[in-house]
Amino acid sequence: MIKPGFWTVAPRILIVDDENTIRLILRRILQKDGYQVIEANNGEQCLEICQKQLADMVLLDAMMPGMDGFTCCAKLHQLLGEDSPPVLMITVLDDQASVDLAFQVGATDYITKPIHWAVLRQRVRRLLQTQWAMKELRRQIEKERMLSDKLEKANQELERLASLDSLTMVANRRNFEQFIESEWKRSHRNAFPLSIIMCDVDFFKAYNDTYGHQAGDICLKKIAETIMQNVNRSSDLVARYGGEEFVVVLPETDVEGAVYVAEKIRKSIKDAAIAHQGSKITNCITISCGVATRKSLSWEYDLNSQPSDLIKEADSALYEAKSQGRDRTFFKNNNYSQ
Ligand code: GH3
Ligand code: MG
Ligand code: MG
Repeated sequence: MIKPGFWTVAPRILIVDDENTIRLILRRILQKDGYQVIEANNGEQCLEICQKQLADMVLLDAMMPGMDGFTCCAKLHQLLGEDSPPVLMITVLDDQASVDLAFQVGATDYITKPIHWAVLRQRVRRLLQTQWAMKELRRQIEKERMLSDKLEKANQELERLASLDSLTMVANRRNFEQFIESEWKRSHRNAFPLSIIMCDVDFFKAYNDTYGHQAGDICLKKIAETIMQNVNRSSDLVARYGGEEFVVVLPETDVEGAVYVAEKIRKSIKDAAIAHQGSKITNCITISCGVATRKSLSWEYDLNSQPSDLIKEADSALYEAKSQGRDRTFFKNNNYSQ
């Protein structure tokens, strides 16, 4: 008996031959070598069995009435493609044309009748080993592909997390700085306006003093969520600038649009009615907003200005909003709150 050695379950060999005696002899020899054997006496049966994935290899007689072995082998590959089991073609024909045809229709190897049994056994064994090695290789490649996909996803997730503020899950300061830099250039290239809103929570130190730092953190999360809900365009960015200060970047947005968004945010936060007994202006959480806009091409367009100039301008507007009583939106020296 030839020890297969590679497989834990004995491989299943499908014998396809119209002659009963040949099938009988083949069955005996193969079973003696430890293989499982299935039989078919025509091409149609062979296709049916292979489609059910029941055979690890096929011993296929080339000359059969009805569908011959060459046609059967070609159909098998058409139907199953890469999943087709290897085919060892058995033929009485040893001429060049038949051998060429056997390989052309996808046979892996061929053997001629009368069958030399020792040669057959070795060919069967070698074919199964090759088949096993191919499957194993495919499995390994697939495993590696899945691993590298997983790694890629993990890296993307890591990158995403590295760009977020861990408390509020909006963009962090580093992300904001990269974003404003590239949006600044884009607005310059395409002559688009670019606006930012600086938002600062009013009397937040007093909030912490009254409710504790943990409650302060929860409050900041809620504020970040509310800001996000009011910023709709996918090209916009909400970031935590630091402490209780947030910044919203609005590409392709002029001052009217930016003031509108700032006011929407400010009112939504007030409407959330987060109790704040320590506030000197009301009894709930409020924010103040400073807006700055870089206009699209106009006489005001300053080619030497920097993103930091825009931030400074928003900061001054915010300072103005604070000194004029808080809970309001300022652009330059103008109060835009109703
Ligand atoms: P104003 O209206 O002028 O902005 O007053 P304010 O108290 O909000 O401003 P100030 O800058 O004096 O205080 C900001 C406070 O924000 C100080 C700090 O306790 C609080 N803060 C900053 N970052 C965090 C944070 O991550 N969590 C919590 N809970 N509090 C923070
Ligand atoms: Mg504050
Ligand atoms: Mg502050």
